[in-house]
Amino acid sequence: MIDYDGMSFNDLISSRIMQALSTHDPQFAELPHDQVGNRVTRNCFMAAVAKINGMPFFPKLAEFCDATLHANCDPTALTRGFFTPVSISGDKLIVAVANPWSPLPDEYLAPRFPDLEIVKVVTLAGEISRAIEAVASNAGPSRSELEAIDVEDLDEGIRDFDVTTDYDEPMAQLVATIMADAVKTRASDVHFKVEKEVFYYTFRVDGDLQPKVEIPMKLKDRLDAFLLNLMKLPTEIRNTAPGISGRFTISYFHRPIDIRYERHRTYRGYHVTMRLLDKGHINVTLGKGTLAFDEETLFELYKVMKIPAGIIVMSGPTGSGKSTTLNAILRELNRPEVNILTLENPVEDEVAGITHCDLKSAKEFKPMISSFMRSDPDIILMGEVRDIESAELAIEAAVTGHKVLTTIHTPRASQIIERFEQLGIERWKIAQTLKAACAQRLIKVLCPYCKEPTEGVGEKDRRVFCLDESWASTPVFTASQNGCAECRNTGYNGRTAILEIIPITPKVSDQLSKGEISPYELEVRIQEEGVLPNLRRSGLRLFREGKTDLAAISKVIDMTYSDD
Ligand SMILES: [Zn+2]
Repeated sequence: MIDYDGMSFNDLISSRIMQALSTHDPQFAELPHDQVGNRVTRNCFMAAVAKINGMPFFPKLAEFCDATLHANCDPTALTRGFFTPVSISGDKLIVAVANPWSPLPDEYLAPRFPDLEIVKVVTLAGEISRAIEAVASNAGPSRSELEAIDVEDLDEGIRDFDVTTDYDEPMAQLVATIMADAVKTRASDVHFKVEKEVFYYTFRVDGDLQPKVEIPMKLKDRLDAFLLNLMKLPTEIRNTAPGISGRFTISYFHRPIDIRYERHRTYRGYHVTMRLLDKGHINVTLGKGTLAFDEETLFELYKVMKIPAGIIVMSGPTGSGKSTTLNAILRELNRPEVNILTLENPVEDEVAGITHCDLKSAKEFKPMISSFMRSDPDIILMGEVRDIESAELAIEAAVTGHKVLTTIHTPRASQIIERFEQLGIERWKIAQTLKAACAQRLIKVLCPYCKEPTEGVGEKDRRVFCLDESWASTPVFTASQNGCAECRNTGYNGRTAILEIIPITPKVSDQLSKGEISPYELEVRIQEEGVLPNLRRSGLRLFREGKTDLAAISKVIDMTYSDD
């Protein structure tokens, strides 16, 4: 049985899909069903599905959907059935489906469009969600498109908070509307803040805080209590505890999204931050979407993945997509013959074939890792190295022949070694177990619809950002001041990742252990060689290609110096 993008195909259909895939690429012939999700691209998979059914395949069509056709459809039914009406052409209703074997589209649409003949085309499951969400976002979650309350029990006993349904209780409705809006605008965080005279919320989208939306001050205590209740936390603690952490799950058109909640007491009340762990819009495949690295970077990354044992560290500030990249690497390394264990807080991207463990508290870390080491692992993903304990355990695992993937909070790749030293690890120990030091950033991508061409970089910018004379005549693009409808007036649309990779070869390891070279000198040497991907060069490459601008690059990379 193949599970793909949330759809399940029975054995008979699965074997037909495998047959179609192997005529396209013979290496797929031997692929086990549970590896299809990891090894076959969406376009390739859906093209095979379309071919078997003799239907055309359109990888992009969300933009062409006639929104009026959704007026008498329930978005939940469409989402569940993986279909959407697209347009009417003569006496035909064009319907996009992701699972052509499902009878649901005909059953559901035939009575709603009785005079039309249904003609189906195949598209990606993600396109169908996009089409449905685009329509739903025009008016916000209005009464007509919302369904009756439907709460499902989760294992932990915490119920999904359905944000796409109607509530009689106004506070529930308010929170549901805000959270649904956050998912639609692809916010990474929602902040609620009480200040002296205002109570407001704001979203963080693509790394930037959006304009504040004020809420009546009188609601601050009820909203606070509502959220604590949602997580089954006693509301009394809010007056005594300086910080409260929690988690809950919201359901967005039946798509569960984990929320990490953090509240701290402030002088005027509180500041609540809710992080949305919505991987729905992040493409976690190396080389695609957000992780569309250039060939040079991909090549070095593949080399890193071939390292048999040792520590691979991804550094970068919060929100730089470190764990997304590590998860994408894990997907690549995921094979039936390797035992992969992860220890995360929380689990962000569940992959079939990988054993995910979530850390309930910091105290669990040591016993969990010790138990891990006895569970015959090949590859271990440790969410983060944050103290001497986790640093020592990562080194111990590497010394005993395991591949360890982890993250650490440092701006530059070369600082990873110093960070381990600060935590109390001797330099020779980290120099001998660290195999690759990487740093990542997410850079905002210019909106392709409104970006503005410029003849070259002005003198002031060239001096501030250490750019040579050639940039004066290099045609580039900058973000439009007021943006357009496509980019919600921000001038940017999504983000892309760039990477810096410093491989610690045996020679480098030896030099570092003996103190013959400092990590910074290593970084400079690598930069001078100019072969390995680095943040500044990758950022400037995107700039040269017209994909981003200096404002976006300098927001995430210190561009005010150059070691060239
Ligand atoms: Zn735009």
